[in-house]
Amino acid sequence: MSVIAPQPGILDIELYVGGSSTVDGVAEVVKLSSNENPLGTSDVVKQAHSKTGHNLHRYPSTDHAGLRAAIADVHKLDADRIICGVGSDEVLQFVTQAYAGVGDEIVYPEHGFSMYPILAKMVGAKPVAVPERERTVDVDAILKACTKKTKIVFIANPGNPTGTMIGSNEVARLADGLPKGCILVHDGAYTEYVEGFDGGASLVEARDNMVMTRTFSKIYGLGGLRVGWGYASKEIIDVLNRVRQPFNLSTIQLDVAEAAVRDQEWVEKCRAENTRMRAWLAEALAELGVPSDTSTTNFILARFADQAEAEACDDYLKTEGLIVRRVAGYGLPHCLRITVGDEPACRRVAHTIGNFKAEYR
Ligand code: PMP
Repeated sequence: MSVIAPQPGILDIELYVGGSSTVDGVAEVVKLSSNENPLGTSDVVKQAHSKTGHNLHRYPSTDHAGLRAAIADVHKLDADRIICGVGSDEVLQFVTQAYAGVGDEIVYPEHGFSMYPILAKMVGAKPVAVPERERTVDVDAILKACTKKTKIVFIANPGNPTGTMIGSNEVARLADGLPKGCILVHDGAYTEYVEGFDGGASLVEARDNMVMTRTFSKIYGLGGLRVGWGYASKEIIDVLNRVRQPFNLSTIQLDVAEAAVRDQEWVEKCRAENTRMRAWLAEALAELGVPSDTSTTNFILARFADQAEAEACDDYLKTEGLIVRRVAGYGLPHCLRITVGDEPACRRVAHTIGNFKAEYR
């Protein structure tokens, strides 16, 4: 038997490391490692899910007209400028596939979402990580790093795993300063956690070099459904549709996501609860000597003295059944990313970190 070699560069792609939801020997595990919504999904969504499921012998809609119309209606956007994907990950992949190739460069902040370098390598492009300023996107550093070969710049705003955000003026300065032919992807996975924020939609409206991406995985509590969407000029959306599989979303995904986007009451409820518990958790950790930057998301980036302390704390939490995320792979080895859970989970994680701090020397 011989091993068939894949395309050049494929074996350089690091496998995405997802969060585990079990700890050997611990029965009551609390998972705070994947930025999921602790309140789950709304009743409206659960009803939509139980109602769908008929007509599964029919292929789903190929143009996602119903879901796009609902998104457009709720967010006051143009449905013709929307594309839907299997999570926002797939929309990021459409952009990468359509606009970058072998020998091109894809630029992103050093602590950027781990899919950015993976996507670059998938198409044979070179991933270029650019320094941040105090764990915040540095627009000048990105502009300086761009060359004629740069085809895509990815930023998540708010960022993951930093939780920090840059203002719309800065995003506009970035988009307008890019080399000709380069697209700015404004990844808005955490948009809804920021009161009154449009995720960059108004910036996209006025530009032909921007794509905004959004997801149902976070505040909508639908990480398991796998639906995301993108917003861009009609010309870009036309291009992205050419690399999209015709039936990328199932009838179930389409029906449930449509019900979810129409249920903005749930979004508001989850945002308010997240804001309350995030403030509580950040303050509780700060009092224990574990600082964090002001988070605009549903997680906190907890900073420890060094990598050894962060890892020891992670191990300690695990033995107590608390799963958080190590972020050494994002260039933050002295930090742990902790999802804002419900009140009992936040109290339990703070209490356990307090015990760890008292014991750790
Ligand atoms: N962008 C960022 C910044 C994220 O944190 C995530 C999820 N971890 C995604 C995109 C992808 O989310 P999904 O594919 O579930 O929409």
